[in-house]
Amino acid sequence: MGRRLTEFLTPSSSGKFRLILVAALAAVSLLLAAALLHPESPFFSLPLRLALSSRRPRIYDPTCDSRAVHRRTPSPQPSPYLLAKLRDYESLHRRCGPLSESIDPTDCKFVVYSPSQGLGNRILGLSSTFLYALLTNRVLLVDFGPDMEDLFCEPFPNSTWYLPETFPFLFQLQTHRFRASYSYGNLLKRKEEEQNKGGKIGQDGDSSSSPALLQIFLQDKYNEYDKLFFKDENQGFVERVPWLVLIHDGYFIPCLFQMQTFRSELEKLFPDQETVFHHLVKYLFSPSNQAWGQITGFYEAYLAKAEERIGFQIRVFEPKQTPFTAVMKQITSCTQKHRLILPQSDTSKSILVASLSRKYYEEIDWMYGRRRRQSTGIAVYQASHEGKQHSGDNSHNMKAWMDIYLLSTSDVLVTSSMSTFGYVAAGIAGVKPWIVMIPDPYHPRGADEPACERAINLEPCFHFPPWFAYPDPPGTGGLVGRCEDVSWGLKLVGGHKTRR
Ligand code: GDP
Repeated sequence: MGRRLTEFLTPSSSGKFRLILVAALAAVSLLLAAALLHPESPFFSLPLRLALSSRRPRIYDPTCDSRAVHRRTPSPQPSPYLLAKLRDYESLHRRCGPLSESIDPTDCKFVVYSPSQGLGNRILGLSSTFLYALLTNRVLLVDFGPDMEDLFCEPFPNSTWYLPETFPFLFQLQTHRFRASYSYGNLLKRKEEEQNKGGKIGQDGDSSSSPALLQIFLQDKYNEYDKLFFKDENQGFVERVPWLVLIHDGYFIPCLFQMQTFRSELEKLFPDQETVFHHLVKYLFSPSNQAWGQITGFYEAYLAKAEERIGFQIRVFEPKQTPFTAVMKQITSCTQKHRLILPQSDTSKSILVASLSRKYYEEIDWMYGRRRRQSTGIAVYQASHEGKQHSGDNSHNMKAWMDIYLLSTSDVLVTSSMSTFGYVAAGIAGVKPWIVMIPDPYHPRGADEPACERAINLEPCFHFPPWFAYPDPPGTGGLVGRCEDVSWGLKLVGGHKTRR
């Protein structure tokens, strides 16, 4: 038997040798990884293809059971111009989208939505991104992880909205350095620094200075440079970039209405500026067959027979610091003051309580249901009580989607301040919710403030507008105003005067 190499080495030289061997192996692995992962490498997409091959193939499923029911709402009707624009978009998506022969950025431009936060935030974020795609003739693609599997039907006929494995920047998207290297805010900041130093910078008019990819970071912690995305003068530059990746979780549509670049087209698409979200959410988000089975199962078993359905959506952001009794006090003052539940009427009622906590269901059931069902004809239900918000969990997201959708079947909706979950339920329902001002330890309200306010329309609140977005600049028709529930937020108000 031949002797092993280490036998020729002294103990100390064996240690050194191991060190050299490990270093050499590490260097070779690094070089290999760089060769495989570098976007210009011919092998670039190989490891990604392998990693992604476990993903199921995606295609538009024409059997989407919910679609016929979900999209059929007698009112409000979308404008013929919006309908025509959607048909044009669908053919663009077929031509340029993942199932077309090739994705060719010389001919097509893209916007990728990368989700964060909970389902309500994601639905608002994705709706805003889609409208931006419509306005800028870009193809919308979504970077959904496994936690978003099977919630929705594919919205665009004969295509898919899933980001394909051939996306040329998939690797960059998944690295932490993505923001530093590709964000538009950082680009503007670097330009400003160079200018201050007297250096030459690429002119916006010079297409050679356009990058192939830009990340648009618009989350709550976005900085002053990131916010400049909402300035008209910057849209020309952004327009030339073939791939945009939007990272955000809010309803930024009010800011698009404030931009001259989009204003007249938006007014043509949405002559009624108070149902923008309603039309977008109904078009984009139909429950998948799996979700639909669960939703209709619960609905038929518990809610369908009632003559009136009332939905309570109770979202407490800081449960440890928010006394249960204080929340219940707000809810009951609201329902009593506005006579939302009239137990003496002879209409049979069902109340659905959507909340992470079971306690609210038990209390409402005690107040209206269990104790007095014989005399009131009210039955109280809860579909799930998850305890707390989870992230990256598909079955948790499925329950959230089920709750949002069940709430949207309500005739009367009582939602929670600041909650995007409630905005989405109201938007799908087409019902103006009563928004209960949930006590918030970080934003205390005055004792004289009302317990709840009726939303003026179906539009969600954009919680983190840039400083230059408000008040609605003069001459812009007062389409954008204050939210009922978030004093620093902005929403489409369609000329209504809002209180704040
Ligand atoms: P927001 O935080 O209230 O604006 O709403 P999001 O939907 O963005 O995030 C909250 C997340 O917590 C949801 O997506 C769910 O995962 C979970 N969640 C909050 N409230 C409920 C509820 O009433 N029912 C269910 N099933 N999940 C909820």
